[in-house]
This record gives sequence, C-alpha cells and structure tokens, in this order.
Amino acid sequence: MLDREITYVKGVGPRKSELLATELGIRKIRDLLIDYPFRYEDRTQYTLISDISQDNQVVQLKGMIKGFSLQGGGRKKRLIAKFTDGSGSIELIWFRSIKWIQDNLVVNKPYTVYGRASRFRSRINIAHPEIELFDEKKNKSSTFVPVYKSTERLSASGLDSKGRRKVLANVLAMLTPNDLNEHLPEYLVKKLRFLPYHEALRNIHFPSSNEHLQQAERRLKFEELFYMQLDIVRHYQTRKLQERGAPFPEIGQFFNTFFNDHLKFELTSAQKKVLKEIRKDLNSGIQMNRLLQGDVGSGKTIVALMSMLIAIDNGFQACMVAPTEILAQQHLQSLQEVTQGLGVRIALLTGSVKGNARKELLRLLKLGEIHILVGTHALFEDPVIFHQLGLAIIDEQHRFGVAQRAKLWEKGKDHRPHVLVMTATPIPRTLHMTVYGDLDVSIIDELPPGRKPITTLHKTEYRRPEVIKFMQKEIAAGHQIYVVYPLIEESEKLDLEDLNNGYEKLLHSFPKPDYQISVVHGRMKPADKDAEMQRFVEGKTHIMVATTVIEVGVNVPNASVMLIENSERFGLSQLHQLRGRVGRGAAQSYCVLMSSYRLSEDGKERLATMVRTNNGFEIAEVDLRLRGPGSVEGTQQSGLPELKIASLTRDVDILRTARQIAMRILAKDPDLREPYHESLRSYLKKYVKSAKDWSRIS
Ligand code: ADP
Ligand code: MG
Repeated sequence: MLDREITYVKGVGPRKSELLATELGIRKIRDLLIDYPFRYEDRTQYTLISDISQDNQVVQLKGMIKGFSLQGGGRKKRLIAKFTDGSGSIELIWFRSIKWIQDNLVVNKPYTVYGRASRFRSRINIAHPEIELFDEKKNKSSTFVPVYKSTERLSASGLDSKGRRKVLANVLAMLTPNDLNEHLPEYLVKKLRFLPYHEALRNIHFPSSNEHLQQAERRLKFEELFYMQLDIVRHYQTRKLQERGAPFPEIGQFFNTFFNDHLKFELTSAQKKVLKEIRKDLNSGIQMNRLLQGDVGSGKTIVALMSMLIAIDNGFQACMVAPTEILAQQHLQSLQEVTQGLGVRIALLTGSVKGNARKELLRLLKLGEIHILVGTHALFEDPVIFHQLGLAIIDEQHRFGVAQRAKLWEKGKDHRPHVLVMTATPIPRTLHMTVYGDLDVSIIDELPPGRKPITTLHKTEYRRPEVIKFMQKEIAAGHQIYVVYPLIEESEKLDLEDLNNGYEKLLHSFPKPDYQISVVHGRMKPADKDAEMQRFVEGKTHIMVATTVIEVGVNVPNASVMLIENSERFGLSQLHQLRGRVGRGAAQSYCVLMSSYRLSEDGKERLATMVRTNNGFEIAEVDLRLRGPGSVEGTQQSGLPELKIASLTRDVDILRTARQIAMRILAKDPDLREPYHESLRSYLKKYVKSAKDWSRIS
C-alpha cells in the first residue's frame, strides 16, 4: 500500500498529484506520510493577553472586539481592531480584505484569535490573525493542529496546510495497522518503549495529546538517525575489513633520534594521545583514514612529522600536501629546520619546479632517495611516481574529488597509502559521527604551554581613530598587521570596492614611504598574489590588506594584529580561522573586530563569542546553534543526508543512542542476516538512501 501512487488517495486527482510531485517530490503514499508537519498549533491552550511575554510568540486568545479604526492611506492603509480579554488588550491588524473583515466581524461577541503576536512601540499586535466565533463544542475537542509545508502553487490548488491536512486524514483513514508494519526489531521497540510504528505515524500527524506527540517524535527521530547510523557504521566496517594497509611495526632510528635529540620541547598530553592513536593505526595492517583536528598552533605539524618518521623507519616514503605553494614552502622550511642533522631527505614539488630540476626530483623519488615529498596537488600528477609511498599527510582540509583521491591511492604500491588529514576547522564533536562517519578522528584540544592567548576586541566605527593609533604603535614596535575584508561570492565586485576604499583610507593613515602595504585579493593572478604575500612574509611590508584568501594561512610569527573589517559579515568559524593567523610569535597578539554600530542579534552573539573565548570547539558549538548543521564550515558537501524530522543540533542524545545501538547490532550481526533483523535489512535497502560518498578522505 505504501508504495502506491498518491492518486490512489481520495481527493488527490491527477492535477494535485502532479503538483505534489513537482513541488515537494511526493509521489508515493509513503512520501506523503513521511512529509511530517513542521510544527503544530496548540489549540488546547488559551493565553492571557497580560501573559504574552515574548516578541513573536504564537498565541491563541479568547476575547472580544471593542471597536474598529481605519488608519493610514494608500498602500499603508490598514484596519485595526481593538481586542480585549479582560486581562489586557491588543490590536488586530489587516492590510488586505479590509472590507470583508469590517462586514463580517462584530463587536462584543466572543472570538477565538490565533496568530503571532509582535511588539511594536510597546504595543502588541497580531497581523492577519486567524479569527472565528468562539464555539464551546469545538473548544472541547480542540487539539494540536499540524502545519505542513506548502508553496504558492500548492496553496493556489487547494493544497495549503489545511488542504494537506485533509489529504493526510484521508490517507490515514485508508491505512490499516497491517499496512504500517513494524520494521524495527521487536526487542528494540520494547526496550526503548516506543509506540508501534502505525501509532507513531498517526500521532505525528494528528496527535491525540501532547504526550503522544512527544512519544511519536521520539520514535520517528530515533529511527531516522538510527538508519542513517546503520548505513554509516556499515560503510565504516566494510572499509575496515577490506582496505588493507601496509603495517609499520618499527619504531626505528629516525623516530627515536628525532624524539631524543631533536625535539626541543615536551609534547603536550594531547599530542601524545593522538600520536598513540596514529601509531596504533599504522601498525594495524588496515589502511588508516584519520582526521587530525586541532586549533591553529596546537602542534599538528610535529605530530604529522613524527608519523612520517614512522613510515620512513619502515622503509616507506611519505608526502605532505598543502593547498598553496607558499604553504608548501613553509612546510618544507619548518620540516627542514626541525630535522636538521637527522638525515631525512625532504624535497619540494610544486607547479613551479620545472625542467631539469623536476626531472631529477622525479628520478630520485622513484628510486626512493627522497623520504618526504612536500608539495601542492601537483604531487598527484601521473609522472610523479614514488618508490614506495606509505603515508600521505593532507594539510588544511584540502577537498579532494573522487578522481584525485583515486590518483593518490594509486601512488601506493601493494597497498593504498595511509592518510592523515589535518584541519584547524573545528567541527563540533556532536557532528563527528555523522560528518566524518567514515573517518577516525583525533583531536588535539590543548595548546602548548606558555602561549599568550590572543586578546580580542570589538570596536565600532567611531572608535577607528584610536584603532589606527594602536596599529601605528604596534608597527613602531616592529610588528606586522593583517587587515581583512569579507569576501562574499555573490557580490565580489562590491567587496573589491570595499577593499580598495579601505586601502585608500589606510594610505592616509599609513603613508609611504614610512609604511609599506601589501594587497592581496581573489581577482589577482596567483603569481602576483604569491609575490605580494611573499613581501609580507619577508617583513618588507607592514600591513597586509586582503580578502579572506589569507585564510588558508601563511605563518608570519611577527604579525601581532589581525584587524577584521565588517566583521559582522563573517561566520564564526571563519573569524576564528582568521584570528589564528596571529599569536604565533612571542609577542602579545590582538584580534580587532570592526563592525558597524547596528548589529543583528546573531551578529552580536558571534562577536561576543569571539571576544569571550579562544576555544575553537566552544566556537563551533555556538556556530552550530546559530546556523544549524548544514552551514557549519567544513560540513558542506559532506554528504550529510537530509533529515525529515531529527535535528543534528537538538537531538544529540537520540543520535548518540542511535549510534550506539547501530554499532552494537552490527558488531553481532554485520550483514543483518539474523531472522529478527530481516525487517531492518529490507527497510534499509529499500528506503534508506545511502549518503553520497562516505569514503571521501576530506
Ligand atoms: P599547527 O600545525 O597545529 O598549526 P604547529 O605544529 O605549526 O601547529 O605548531 C605551532 C608551533 O608550536 C610550532 O612552532 C611548533 O614548533 C610549536 N610546538 C608544537 N608542539 C609544541 C609543544 N608541545 N610545546 C611547545 N611548542 C610546541
Ligand atoms: Mg599548521
């Protein structure tokens, strides 16, 4: 029955079914059933006008109209009714259908009013409320009314929320409990004290009480997350079973010498813990696919290097891939510095290594004479052949397509190389199990000791003179400064204008030749960008004016100030990434957030969060709360399946339970072959769209 076309439902003819298909993708009866209401109107309760406390509160009131008045003219013309319930009074407002309202509503009779109460200049009003004569009988049977998604076209054809309600009622009247067979194993339904499937479905659409509604939600949210986790965990297990990796049993001379003689500091306990996790992976005989997450400056690179030394100790080569040439160069430099005298041979391969130098490099690489190859994605090209690649480190969340990933894998010989992806973008822990379902995650959640935390300040426009003085002081003390403008793709032109205007203004306050300024923006040729960047890296310029291109991050320890213009236009995680560009040297560093005086509530909270904390995870949690999981940096294109009812932000506890149970079930019955898992297996196969591509490495 559930797989039948929706034309089978009473009241759904060819035209309506066509519309439901094109507007909402609803084709089968099952689609109708799982297009859950997105909210409910609580018609069981009346609010007293004197109790309305929040702006935009949705309320149901019982009271009388005391009089009408017409106000404004032309397009601002509106009808206002004074409505009172004895506890207070509010205004009901109509901009349309004024005549009809005036003709049909009467004063001093009891009405039920339903709508969103908003506050305007200390008065409360409801615009275009639902209003009808109070009816004692109806009042007794009133309940939670479901509200469904609709569109203009649907509404025009009688499929507004009310129309959809009718359709749903017809569907449910038509279905017997047998049509809605239980698909979760009985032991689970019992253990978690769930409503049976058919009752849950009925109650999600037409709840018989608040309690039943909550029970239905709990069950349907669980099953949605549960099937998603079954899918993810199965993929993960399959990969673990199938992808052999070269085992690295040796902790040998390179690693030990580095650890004993070269390492100038004690590893933080977070670094030690992560290194242990990686060592275990590398010796497991299974291909490692691990994400290493840690704030900028938390010491990921040392961990990566020590992992590469393990590979080398075992006779393998390693590579490190960075998103830009400059970053690759910086990696080369710092790797060479810390391994001086160790005998590790490190080489750089980027697009600008050409001719004979390139030929020689490729020859040595193939012979195994190069231990570590640092580079950009030029490293993936076909002529780049390793003698024996065992480990690939990928810096800063390089996003690889399937083709590039395949290229990388081909570079291994008998086994795919182990992969370690490093990222400074904090993803809330609660999202790991979903976004990185297929990756193991290691977290460095502690900074090396002795770091001076960056001081973050929020300044509005009229404090600019004092900000400029402060910048001049920092430059006089020998430091360098970043000035960043937001880049929003849709209005690239505008942003460039912003940046150019800002640059002109900066020139006034920081005139040549005393001050030198670099400029970098997205419209420049890569080579010019690199050159400008290089001038700043070498300390030849005092200020670097840029759009967010610097986000991917160069290391300039001498930079002590990060000034972010129009900071309210940046997302939290972006702000955090940018701030991480300073605070790398010995000096006290500052992040200055410039914004206009007027800010949205969200904007205020974002900036206040930045001022309050340097902790990337805390920031990611706030970001997740403000923006929802789909838009959190690093989760885009992550293959997150669309959820119908559960929320990755609000239903974390349910998600945890669902994951635990999925893991427990699959540990015992990996292919769901047990008879009591038969219904699970067929439901999964039939209805659960596998997330796009769980095998991505980043
Ligand atoms: P990330 O790659 O996470 O941004 P890095 O590995 O570049 O961080 O480390 C930043 C700086 O901190 C480097 O100069 C590094 O040598 C130093 N560092 C790393 N780990 C420690 C530690 N445990 N104690 C002191 N300094 C450290
Ligand atoms: Mg780094």
